[in-house]
Amino acid sequence: MISTDVGAVVTRFAPSPTGWLHAGHAYSAIRAHDFARGAGGRFLLRIEDIDPGRSREVFVAGIEEDLRWLGLAWDGEVIRQSARFDAYRGALGALGSAGLLYPCFCTRADIAQAANAPHGSEGPVYPGTCRVLDPALRAMRMDREPHAWRIAMDRAVARTGRLHWHDQAVGEMVADPMRFGDVVLARKDAPASYHLAVTVDDAWQRVTDVVRGADLFEATHIHRLLQALLGLPTPRYHHHPLLKDADGERLAKRRGSKSLSDLRANGVDPLALADALRRGETPGL
Ligand code: GLU
Repeated sequence: MISTDVGAVVTRFAPSPTGWLHAGHAYSAIRAHDFARGAGGRFLLRIEDIDPGRSREVFVAGIEEDLRWLGLAWDGEVIRQSARFDAYRGALGALGSAGLLYPCFCTRADIAQAANAPHGSEGPVYPGTCRVLDPALRAMRMDREPHAWRIAMDRAVARTGRLHWHDQAVGEMVADPMRFGDVVLARKDAPASYHLAVTVDDAWQRVTDVVRGADLFEATHIHRLLQALLGLPTPRYHHHPLLKDADGERLAKRRGSKSLSDLRANGVDPLALADALRRGETPGL
């Protein structure tokens, strides 16, 4: 990769268009935006629309409108993950050729039933049902049944050895992807999962600093592994605390919390709102 602006800061806001943005999203976008602007760098907008069942055009339009309303301008064109499937197929192909993937036919219900392992942010650790399928049966089912692709985590970890990343909040981290088990890298309905798409795209867009909520901190263990396996650079990470209301509840998840489009319709002053969020305040949200 030839880079003309070595060292220039690039951040991104990468929402999934599966609902309206809330103040928690706005806070995250502001943090990523301000970090880039403060360093004279670039702020990108990436629409993470790999989930065909839940992504909606109306939410994509809403995201752009909300950011403009808050006074957050992004650089360059908006990238959509739904237009990047070839890149994800390429990465999957490389991992498959290295013998690190296997097809999985399980449904969510199968997995929930079979798993008794500890639950992480990823849901139950996959019990490995499809990993031990007879090869002939596997080949037959692949022709007939929709399947996801999972990583054989122990083989992957054996290949990369010990990995680290730097997180601004906690310092040097040792990656421990093993505890997430054989995570899905391609969905049944798309040639990528969140983990694969985000890793490939952060590298492709030359993101130097991933600024995102602490709810995604744990996923970094998996992203770091994929970077090593795919020969991609590792950005610096800045996981920010999640915005809470006066009762200590997470804004984005709180039931009935107002969307940015509601606030706009109610005549809220967007610049005053953005400034309050910058101070970590959530007035009347
Ligand atoms: N698309 C993810 C979300 O909406 C965020 C991806 C990321 O920042 O890594 O939660």
